[in-house]
Order: sequence, then structure tokens, then C-alpha cells
Amino acid sequence: MFAKLKRAAQGARVPHHKGTSGTATVQMPLPTRIVLPMQQHIGAPCTPAVKKGDQVYVGTVVGRAGGFVSADIHSGVSGTVQSIDSVHMPGGAHSAAVVIVPDGSQTPDPALKPPVVTDAASLAQAARDCGLVGLGGAGFPTAVKLAPKTPIDTLIINGAECEPYITSDEREFLESSETVMRGVKAVREHLNIGTVIFAIERNKPQAIDLMFSLTQGDAAYKVQPLDSRYPQGAEKVLIETVTGREVPRGGLPADVGVLVMNVTTVSALGKYLDTGMPLVTKRLTVDGDAVNKPQNVEVIIGTPIAEVLEFCGGVKDDFAKLLMGGPMMGTAVADVNSPVLKQNNALLCFGEKAAHIPVPGPCIRCGRCIEACPMGLSPVEIAGAFQKGDVAALNEMMVDLCMGCGSCTFVCPAKRPVCQTMNLAKAMQKKGGAK
Ligand code: SF4
Ligand code: SF4
Repeated sequence: MFAKLKRAAQGARVPHHKGTSGTATVQMPLPTRIVLPMQQHIGAPCTPAVKKGDQVYVGTVVGRAGGFVSADIHSGVSGTVQSIDSVHMPGGAHSAAVVIVPDGSQTPDPALKPPVVTDAASLAQAARDCGLVGLGGAGFPTAVKLAPKTPIDTLIINGAECEPYITSDEREFLESSETVMRGVKAVREHLNIGTVIFAIERNKPQAIDLMFSLTQGDAAYKVQPLDSRYPQGAEKVLIETVTGREVPRGGLPADVGVLVMNVTTVSALGKYLDTGMPLVTKRLTVDGDAVNKPQNVEVIIGTPIAEVLEFCGGVKDDFAKLLMGGPMMGTAVADVNSPVLKQNNALLCFGEKAAHIPVPGPCIRCGRCIEACPMGLSPVEIAGAFQKGDVAALNEMMVDLCMGCGSCTFVCPAKRPVCQTMNLAKAMQKKGGAK
């Protein structure tokens, strides 16, 4: 039995479906209400900082961070707090949520002003006051990322956007390059980072050309076009592809001197440094074969998904499945009244045919899942160990390195739910015991 194959960084050649990449983002009008769950990030949930009947403004803190790994939540409207409710999150869990009815004036909070940033600590504090989290989908609080314990020599700006359909990061490059560069320069300066690499898949030639033109002549900046291959944008995969460095098992990018920031995240930081307006809006790619007007829309965080879909012309008669995020790693949403969250970058609507889940056949031991795994794991062997309840084997085969990218499921000719089995195997390994 082997522990882990030499990482081949294979992944899967998934169809791109980037049909919304060529059109400018449309701003959505004010929603009828916003719903702000207190858990919109990895880490401790926030505590509501307002009560029913309170007046709030655009940028007012309505949820206070619940710990070091957490992020404040701000109102994107001026209006009145209608209630503090318990809501269903898109994945099914419950969260306390602040519900606000807009007054239509969109008055900014008078206390807001651009932060004074002079060093790494004040930059991290600015990210904390902005309520910033990883906007590529991860939702990890940016302030924590900006306080690495070891020196960083390379900043990678993640513009891979390897999930099919999603084009919101590409539009960030094209529509907000000034704030992208503002954020990048601040991080580079205050964390004393020598090299910045813009890592962008080749299926975004306009974004690549733009970043080349904005950085030419400065040796500190590089633009690295990448193969269009899923999951090119996964943090550990990207670091290895771009720098050749392998993040150790259980380690962090900072352990190999690298900081990775998603392009929309660094741009949001740039906007905050200039304006003092915290994170209250988000660009979303709305696409899929069951939505009438696919497009990128800028929405106020907390807007009910149903209102976004209505703005996009509504859904078609055969609408059967809604995903928050991409088709490879997104979360199925059961309730269209769920709100848009900070880390949400896409809403994908699929009809019955695309949403159909095939009946799995027996494993034919073809090994394609092994070839596809970007982490060098052996999903078919891990599945066997899981069936036997062999935790020692799961440890030896390093199932904890699985990032749930779904490449193994995508390539499996028997249509087996390989990635789902990996998730169960990881849970078994974590518990150290039975299924
Ligand atoms: S790709 Fe599917 S059929 Fe092939 S070895 Fe893996 S699980 Fe078995
Ligand atoms: S889901 Fe896990 S096992 Fe499957 S390809 Fe991705 S990293 Fe490998």
C-alpha cells in the first residue's frame, strides 16, 4: 500500500461554460429586505450588535466578530432592524440573522472613514474592520491571513477561477483593476513581500493582458498564465504550480513563504483603504441553463436569492436545482429565500436534465480517479479502506489531504460518488473510528 503518490497536479478538464465573461456587471436595485446571518465565514459566529427597531446605516456593524478567527458583519442598507431571527443557511444549518428593511435613502454610516494604515498590524486591523473574508468561496477571515507568523516572500493573487460558469473574478480584474492594484500594493508594502504573481487561467486573455500592461517595467510583479484545468485555483495546487513549493501535510502556505489572496478579496481591501466602506456588496455570476438572463450582478450582501433570480428574468419551467458556488464545489440551496452571503460568488440554476444524478455502477478499477486527484491521493483505495472501517489505512493514505474538489467524481466512468465517499472517509479518520 502506498501513502501518497507523487503529486501529478492532474485535475480534470471540465467544460468552461464562461458565457457571462464578456458582459459588464449590472447593479441590482435595493432589495425589499436584507437578511444577514451571523455565520458568513470560517470561525466563530458573530453576535448581533443591534436589536429590533434600531436605525442602521450603510456600513453600520450589525454583527460583532465572535473571536480572533471571525469577521464583523455590516449592513448594506440604511433602514430599520425588523427582527433578529433564526434562518436556514444554504447548506441546511441554522444561524441567528439580523433582518433589516431599507428606508431607500442609502445613507452611509457617519462614523465611517478611511483607515490609517502604517504597518502590517494596522493593515490587518483594517481588514478586520472591513469585515473581510476570502471572497473566492472559502470565507476565511482576511485579518488572520494578513498576520502570518513567518516571513512571506511571495504573494500570489489567485485569478484562476477554475470552476465552470463563474466569471465574477474575471470581471473584478476588468472592471476594478485600480482597487486590485491598490490592495496588492498595500499588502506587498506592509508585509514586506518581494514578489507578487498574478496567477490567471489562459481562458481569461483580457485579464492577463490588462495585468501585464499594469505591471510591466516593475520586476516585483509577474503575470503567470495557467493551464485551464480544474482545480487550478485550489490554494495548495496553485502554490505548487506557480512556485514549485509543496505545503507540508497539516501546514499553511506561510510555512513555505507564500500568501495567496483571491483577486476579489484583495480588491475589496483596496476599496476599503480608499473609502472606509466595509464589505457590504458582492458581485455574483448568475448562470445555468434554467435562468432566463445569465449575467454578473452586484448585489447587497443579505439580499434574498429569490429577488436576485427575479432580477435576472426569473427561472425556466424545468428549474430543478440551485447551487451557491460552482458545479464542482458549490452548495445545493434548498430554499430560494436564503440570503446571498459574503463568500458567495455564483448562483447557478439548472434544469432537470443537468440536475439529474446518475445511478452509480460498480467500480471497474480503471484508476482514473487516481490520475485526476491533484493531491496525489488514491481515492479508489481510500474508498476500500473506508468500507472496511480501517482508520489506520486512512491515516496512511492521507485522506485528510483531500480538499473535496470533486475531480475524482467528475472523471469516474462508473458515475460513483467518489468525492462524497472521501468526505465520509475524512470524517471517519477525524473521529478515529467507525462509519
Ligand atoms: S474512477 Fe471510478 S471506476 Fe475508476 S477506479 Fe476510480 S472509482 Fe473505480
Ligand atoms: S475530492 Fe479529494 S480525492 Fe477526489 S480528486 Fe479531489 S482531492 Fe482527490
